[in-house]
Amino acid sequence: AQGDGRSRVRFFEPDMDMHVERRINIERELRSAIAADIIEPHYQPVVSLVSNRIVGFEALARWESRTLGHIPPDVFIPIAEETGLINALGDQLFRRACSDATAWPKAFSLAFNISPVQLRDSALGERLISILEQTGFSPHRLEIEITESAFVERSGAAKTVIDGLRQAGVRIALDDFGTGYATLSQLLSFRLDKIKIDRSFVSHLDDSTDSRVIVRAILGLANGFGLTTTAEGIEDEGQLVYLVSNGCTEGQGYLFSGPVPAAGIPALLDREASD
Ligand code: C2E
Ligand code: CA
Ligand code: CA
Ligand code: CA
Repeated sequence: AQGDGRSRVRFFEPDMDMHVERRINIERELRSAIAADIIEPHYQPVVSLVSNRIVGFEALARWESRTLGHIPPDVFIPIAEETGLINALGDQLFRRACSDATAWPKAFSLAFNISPVQLRDSALGERLISILEQTGFSPHRLEIEITESAFVERSGAAKTVIDGLRQAGVRIALDDFGTGYATLSQLLSFRLDKIKIDRSFVSHLDDSTDSRVIVRAILGLANGFGLTTTAEGIEDEGQLVYLVSNGCTEGQGYLFSGPVPAAGIPALLDREASD
């Protein structure tokens, strides 16, 4: 074990250097990717667990860098937030998503992620609404996904943005529910339409009693307040059965489909129509 520890230390320092260098490279490439508008939304179907039909899509940002290869959003979104690039990137992704979504059947909704950092900008709501107007996508078909930390911050800006969007007819979903530190009363002081149950609970439904108890409690609470519920990351039939039997109304996950590029949506809908 001694030897292991030492060799780990020896490899640690070059790794740290690479880490810093990589981060600098990513930041530089991110600027040019945004300037070139090459980061694009892919779309993961949201399925009604009642009708077993697609009811909408969640936009998830995808970046294939010419020099760095595939960079996941868990890596570049935080860098965009730290560098202030998130506002330009978010607007760009939103414009693209709205214009893609105008080609979908009218009943489908678009879910779009907004990070707490984006919500510090009190002009965000007006920009999003003007993008809706420019692209002709109805605010009534839009759902904004925000995490608990946006509620905890309780910044005046977040409230202004969320209230403005709600007034325009946009629905508000609480993302990654159960992973943050918001109190119930903080959450209830904002009017929500939907709660999304985080994948970390869904993926342990089969092996953790705690996860089953938590998920059942979240579903009971949400249903009691008349909120829609979406479970993230459904990968197998057993998870689906548990969620359905406890009243979950919508689901997403590889069991149905991973995110697909805009051009892949017609094939997904054809496949569903022929079921
Ligand atoms: P999220 O909003 O919680 O999105 C769900 C993540 O789970 C996505 O990862 C999705 O591809 C992945 N996923 C969906 N179904 C399954 C499944 O069955 N199994 C597994 N293992 N994973 C599944 P992704 O696309 O890598 O996005 C990661 C996070 O990055 C998102 O988490 C969201 O917080 C953020 N993000 C992505 N796109 C955007 C964006 O346009 N704007 C902002 N602000 N954040 C974004
Ligand atoms: Ca989300
Ligand atoms: Ca999540
Ligand atoms: Ca998230």
